[in-house]
Order: sequence, then structure tokens, then C-alpha cells
Amino acid sequence: KANRLFHEADSIIDVAGVKVGGHEKIVVIGGPCSVEGEQPTIDVAKKVKAAGGTMLRGGAYKPRTSPYAFQGLGTEGILDLVKAREATGLPIVSELMSEDRIEEFEQYVDLVQIGARNMQNFQLLKAVGKMKKPVLLKRGLANTIEEWIMSAEYIMAAGNENVIFCERGIRTFEKYTRNTLDLSVIPIIKEKTHLPIIIDPSHATGNWRYVESMSLAAIAAGADGLIIEVHENPECAWSDGAQSLKPDRFAAVIEKGRAIARVI
Ligand code: PEP
Ligand code: MN
Repeated sequence: KANRLFHEADSIIDVAGVKVGGHEKIVVIGGPCSVEGEQPTIDVAKKVKAAGGTMLRGGAYKPRTSPYAFQGLGTEGILDLVKAREATGLPIVSELMSEDRIEEFEQYVDLVQIGARNMQNFQLLKAVGKMKKPVLLKRGLANTIEEWIMSAEYIMAAGNENVIFCERGIRTFEKYTRNTLDLSVIPIIKEKTHLPIIIDPSHATGNWRYVESMSLAAIAAGADGLIIEVHENPECAWSDGAQSLKPDRFAAVIEKGRAIARVI
């Protein structure tokens, strides 16, 4: 179902009115790694919007490496995102980790993120395939493009054809970056499938200093969008502060992006 051979035109995915893919504008999703309460979420959402961002991200269920690390605010965090959406009009993106939260996400979340660690959680993919909301499918930590496309097929085969790919870097031997950003997936995904692809330079590099250049490279390579971690005070972020941009730097990425290719 994802195969370009049987679907020549680019698919355009509608996320609560924001169009992703085709020759639409590049979407820029910004927001914190973790939702940290109502007021901080509303504040950062306003900054994301003022910078030209088109959607708000924030994790309420966090797939942390350590079970002792902050696990996310859960339902409370989802409701904080809803408040920020009410304040700004930005659609909200959040990660779904398990089937037992599907009803909650169907009710409140505009774009359902499947994280890298769940890319091959086939039971979850089948369940998400029955949802009505569009899905942001991140590439697994060490998965091939073919495996990634097959995971999209799981969702589509179950009935949900609104899938957006997200490259977030893969594991290599390199240690100067958290992961290695594989930008070659952009032309490959576009050749093999008709679905949109966006790039996550934050998790790909793990370092805010490399986020701008990788964002601009992704736009130049034809990505349909970016998802960038933004925090007003990265040193104090509850997760992924080291890779989070301050709002003014996020605004600079969008400003410079506008000079490269299609309008953001
Ligand atoms: C995230 O978006 O905060 C996240 C956990 O991403 P990934 O699944 O790509 O590691
Ligand atoms: Mn993160």
C-alpha cells in the first residue's frame, strides 16, 4: 500500500488541517522532549508558533532507557498539550507506547507518534492501524529502510493509510553524535513510497549545536518537514536538554530554512 508503483502521486496527510507532503509547505514541529506541566507547555507552544512552527510536540509517555528516569506525566501531560493547542491552535504530536492508551490518543492527540523503540512492535502497529488519527512512524534504532517500510505496511494494511515517516538517526560506531543521521533515506523513501518523510535532527545528533545544519541539509534534500526539540531552559529540561534548541535558535532555523527551498 505504501508502494510508489501503485500510487504515483505523493500522498498528502492531513493533520488537523495542516497538510504534510506533496508540494505543500514544509512542516516544522517544535516542542519539548517531555511535557513538563501546563504553563511551561503553553509558554513554549506560543514561542514555537511565533517562530513559524506548525505543530507542537511533547512526550507524555516516555520510552526511557532507565526505569528510574522520569517516565512522563501520562494523561496529565496529554491534557497539558490540549491546553497548549487551545492557546495556540497548533496541532499536537505525542508518542503512544501501548495499546491501553489508544482511546486517550484517539480523543486528544492529532498526530500519533510511534517511537523508534516500537517500530517493530507489530501488535501496536496493527492496533494503530485501526485508529483514525494519522501516524508518525519513526525509524528504529537499527532498522533497514525495507523493514521500516514494512512497518508502515502493517499500519496501512490494518486500515490506516495516513502514515508519515520520520528519520531520527541510526546506530553506528560513531560516538561524537548520539546517532548517525541518514539523509539518504529522503530520496529513497520518496522513490519507493508515496508517503511523506520528515527529519528529527535532535535525536539524530543528540547535540543542539548540530541541529541547525542538519535541519537545513534535510530541507535541501527534499524532506517534507522537521521535528525539533525546543525548550525555554534546556539546562533544566526533564529529558533531552542537551539536544534541545532555545526558541530563538529554533526561529533562526526556520528563518534560514526559508532561504533554501520551498516556503516553511
Ligand atoms: C522522542 O521523540 O522524544 C523520542 C523518544 O524519540 P525516538 O523514539 O526517536 O528516540
Ligand atoms: Mn527526546
